[in-house]
Formats: sequence, C-alpha cells, structure tokens
Amino acid sequence: MCRFLEELGVAHHSAGAWHWTSDTYPADAISLRAVTSDNFVVVDITNEEKVIAEVAFPAALLELHEKAIYLHEARQYQVEKMDYPQRKAFVRQVECDYFTDAIDYTQVKILEEFETCPLGAARAAHGEVRVNRQIVGFKKVKFYTNENVGAGALSLPEQEMHTTSFWLHFPDPFLARFSDLTPTEKLNSISGMGNALRTVAALLLMCDPRDFGVSLTEEIRPGLEGFEPNLHLYDSYPGGIGLSAPLYELRPRLLAGALDLIRGCPCEEGCPSCVGPAGETGARAKDGATRILAALVEAGLESGAAPQK
Ligand SMILES: [Zn+2]
Repeated sequence: MCRFLEELGVAHHSAGAWHWTSDTYPADAISLRAVTSDNFVVVDITNEEKVIAEVAFPAALLELHEKAIYLHEARQYQVEKMDYPQRKAFVRQVECDYFTDAIDYTQVKILEEFETCPLGAARAAHGEVRVNRQIVGFKKVKFYTNENVGAGALSLPEQEMHTTSFWLHFPDPFLARFSDLTPTEKLNSISGMGNALRTVAALLLMCDPRDFGVSLTEEIRPGLEGFEPNLHLYDSYPGGIGLSAPLYELRPRLLAGALDLIRGCPCEEGCPSCVGPAGETGARAKDGATRILAALVEAGLESGAAPQK
C-alpha cells in the first residue's frame, strides 16, 4: 500500500519510516456519507434564492423529485423544480400535513453466479448482478395516521449499477407446496421475507439495513416455463462492499434468525418490525413468509448446508 502511494507521489520513504508528502489531507477527497461524490444542491426560493443543503445523488432521487416534501431543519419545503442535468432542486417553504414517499421499480439481473447450494427444491446463491432502478412515482402519506392521501407519477432517468448480491431462488416445485396461497400471496410472502431477512442480515454483519437493497425479480431464461422468482439482498453501493459472500456463508443463521423474528413478533398480520406493514404486504404475507422460511430452514438442516463451489 505504501509503495503504491509512493508511486502516486503522495508518500515518501525515509530512515525506515513512511511520510505523507502531499499538501492535501488524505481524507479530504472521501465523502463519509456516500460512495459517490456527485450530489444535488437544494435551493430555497421562498424569498431570495439561497442554497440550504447538499444531498448525495442516490438520496436526492428519493427526496428531491418534483412535488416531494423535503425536510430541512424541522421545516417543510416542497420541491418545485428538479433540474437533473444541473443537479439542482428548487424548493419553497410550505406547511402541510403529509410527507412523500418515493416509489421505485427495481430489476436485478444475475451476471455471474459465484457459489450456490440447494435448500430443498429452492436454492441460495451469491454473485455479481446488475441493478436497474427507476423512481416511477410517489405517495403522499399523512402524518400520524399514515393514511395514503394521494399519489403522482414521475419519470426520472433509470439508474444502473453493478454490484454483488445474495439471493434465494424459488422454482415452481418449491412454491407448489404452498398450494393454498394464490400466486400474489406467494409473492407478498416472499417480499415480506425480504424485509425480515434485511433486518437480520444487518444484525449479523453489523451494518445498516439500508446497506442492502431488497428486490423480488422474476428469473427469465430461455426454456423456462412458469414463474420462478429470485429474492435478492444486494449491496446497495456500486461495485459492492463485500456483504454478499459473508451473508451466503451465514445463510443458516440468516434464515433461522428471520424465522425467529417473524414468529416472535406479536403483530397479527405483519408490521414494519417483521414482514412489513400489513397494508403493504397483504393479509397473508406473515403466515406465508413463516411457512416458506420454515421450509428453507428445515431443508438447510437436512442438507447439512454443504456449499457447492
Ligand atoms: Zn410484526
């Protein structure tokens, strides 16, 4: 590492010690908040134009789209215009009784599978993926009651990122066992599982739940008949930050932990602490997620969870 820095001309070796020789501080160019240095400037146009904040690019797409309610120093601002090419958002101070929640549409495509192992008729794997994400709209959510009081459509440019992911693959023979659930209920159950898995994954790897993106994507490959979803927990940073491989190794604990979390949750039909709020995941998501996870945990114990390279 030191030799590399010497080649760059920022370090010097002398009398058995390494010295930093550049005139800028090494941490100067590194953002503590985000991987990317690209960001949006928030301009308040309530009175005179004034820059009030800078927001990192990924967060800006969620918080600074047109008509979004942006919170800054306990004040509410509505975004009047988002100048995407210039990376600026013009906001005006407002008082309203709702906040906005961006709706995104994410597709994950598997580029390379590094390792995989069976979990009964299902499968766990990790590898490299391409994530395409687009903010397609937003909801207006009322404070205190969380009531949905409106929505709007957005068409922001699609973002593409290569990263690493841990995923579970659910082929038809596996899902056929849960014949009392409709296809939609199965999907709701699997996305509910995603919520619990993200919580447990963050605990196991001691990171922030937001370090993972969760996506339920249908597998498309030639000759595939029927519907085979993949549940991805991907590193939500370009290039990946090394979470997927350890998550794959820890999968018995991950699955058992998520099952314990959902079973131990006192809610009836789902809440943000386990599978997500019942209003979002559907009525049978908690029941379905519990049974699917139990089947995966059992299959993992039977196979001895021996990984296949
Ligand atoms: Zn719950």
